[in-house]
Amino acid sequence: MRRRTGPARPRHRGRTADHRPGPAPLQPRPTTPPHPARPRLHLPGCTAPAAWARAHHVRHWVDGGATDVANAALLCQRHHTTVHRRRLWATVSATPDQHGRYVVWDLTDGSYDRALAALPPPVPPTRPLAPPHAA
Ligand SMILES: [Zn+2]
Repeated sequence: MRRRTGPARPRHRGRTADHRPGPAPLQPRPTTPPHPARPRLHLPGCTAPAAWARAHHVRHWVDGGATDVANAALLCQRHHTTVHRRRLWATVSATPDQHGRYVVWDLTDGSYDRALAALPPPVPPTRPLAPPHAA
């Protein structure tokens, strides 16, 4: 194990009241819920940090779901597994609802299959036309 030698160096420098460089004031770690502007994961009750998020295809890729933010929800690995195991569907909106949610989950088991059955079939991706062959 490597040990640190010498005096500890401050990680961040701030400014003193007269604007000379000095150590940043110590601030207690936040114990309150995250600020509303901080990204949060998209499943109610999930407390995992946003940095742990993985993008979930709401309409699964194998079912024709696009890899697009309009079809994505951020989930931690544990809840990603839960969403797939319980086959849950979510509605993704570009603007938040009255509760500030961009993703609203239907938490009844099998909601994914019911929603998928009601959707039109996916549009297959188009390929650019090949250039005409020279004669
Ligand atoms: Zn989670």
